Amino acid sequence: MTNERPVDLKEFYPSDLFGYAEGLTNGELTVLKAVREALEKHVKPVINEYWEKAQFPFEAFAEVAKTGMMDSPLLFEGREGSRKPSELYNVFLYFELAKMDASIATFYTVHGGLCYNTILLGGSEEQIKHYGPKITSFEWQGCFGLTEPDHGSDIAGGLATTAEKVGDKWILNGEKRWIGGATTADILPIFARDVADNKIKCFVVPGGTKGLTAEAIPYKVALRPVQNGHITLENVEVSDDTRLVNINGFKDVSRILRATRADISHLATGMTAGSLEAALRYVTERDQFGKKVGGFQLVQEKLAIMQANSVATLGYSVRLAELQEQGRFIEENSALAKMHNALRMRETVALGREVCGGNGITLDTDVARFFADAEAIYSYEGTHEINALIVGRYLTGIGAFI
Ligand SMILES: Cc1cc2nc3c(=O)[nH]c(=O)nc-3n(C[C@H](O)[C@H](O)[C@H](O)COP(=O)(O)OP(=O)(O)OC[C@H]3O[C@@H](n4cnc5c(N)ncnc54)[C@H](O)[C@@H]3O)c2cc1C
Repeated sequence: MTNERPVDLKEFYPSDLFGYAEGLTNGELTVLKAVREALEKHVKPVINEYWEKAQFPFEAFAEVAKTGMMDSPLLFEGREGSRKPSELYNVFLYFELAKMDASIATFYTVHGGLCYNTILLGGSEEQIKHYGPKITSFEWQGCFGLTEPDHGSDIAGGLATTAEKVGDKWILNGEKRWIGGATTADILPIFARDVADNKIKCFVVPGGTKGLTAEAIPYKVALRPVQNGHITLENVEVSDDTRLVNINGFKDVSRILRATRADISHLATGMTAGSLEAALRYVTERDQFGKKVGGFQLVQEKLAIMQANSVATLGYSVRLAELQEQGRFIEENSALAKMHNALRMRETVALGREVCGGNGITLDTDVARFFADAEAIYSYEGTHEINALIVGRYLTGIGAFI
């Protein structure tokens, strides 16, 4: 028997000073190594160019997807029969993707997080078997249509898109906004209010269905490669078997958001580590006053804060993953983790930009991309305020949303 690991953990995860990656299996590390190699080879050389031109690098992403990051048998050793890899692997997959680029990680979370969890938590056994493998193999690209032009934070009570059953069909009408990947998605889970019982239901609308249009939101200053769609549904007709049978009210949507909010806390963890790495690359090469910028005490203090944030966010993510794996995590856990990790990420990307000086505002140093993208992560999947209100309600017993 050998204890050999596919990678040297200290070298592979230098910012993981408390050794959180030690719990990963060799199979998981093998896949994560392949993901990193694919990101380095295919995404890194083109990401700034795609960010600048606000287009998604589909070809590069396809190369990353080929690593089997959702469905490699290596991820299911010891958990055969499970539909998802371990939660710890999930943390480090987001860590890897977001450490390279937040748009790549966001595109993934819309597909492999939001869409896949909607199918798993909302679908019947038959529906899971129909959609699941096509999602995990990336054959079909999915998205998640919840937010509307007039309802963001108050979507639970405000959701205005309607669904009406006519014979054995459903007719959908309304608008959705900010839907990541919507312009190219093969399947679009759309949340709508059933006019008969006023309950929120979900329909997996095939891309290209008559009456459905999705236009990319222009002029974004964060996550520019991700096409966020403004969807219009005009008498969109779908069959009854597209309705996910286990979504029968906002409480079921909340179950999905609880899981996907955890994903975003991991994504923020990856961005924190990514901006630290990008900043380190710069300060160890740039000379001022005859020595490396990284050799000044004031710069090192900022780097140390970034490192501390990296360990703290990883700590939140990994403990959250343990609770998820044990099936005993609650809404407050993921709200707290998203709120904390996004705050620390926001501080870290700003420090990263700062230590790179003027060059920190150009895409050349990578920190600029993290800095701009952080604003979107800070606000999506429950804004800072909404997650703080969930924690505040837990602390005081008083709901302060309204
Ligand atoms: C890049 C990006 C990608 C996204 N992707 C998707 C997606 O794929 N699918 C999807 O369905 N949605 C998506 N969203 C939508 C996202 O979830 C919403 O932006 C978010 O829920 C906030 O809603 P809002 O933008 O309408 O802000 P609003 O709800 O209008 O909030 C504006 C401000 O008011 C604050 N606020 C609101 N209510 C309260 C309150 N009660 N107390 C205190 N403060 C309050 C908010 O915190 C915020 O600061 C995405 C958004 C972005 C920016």
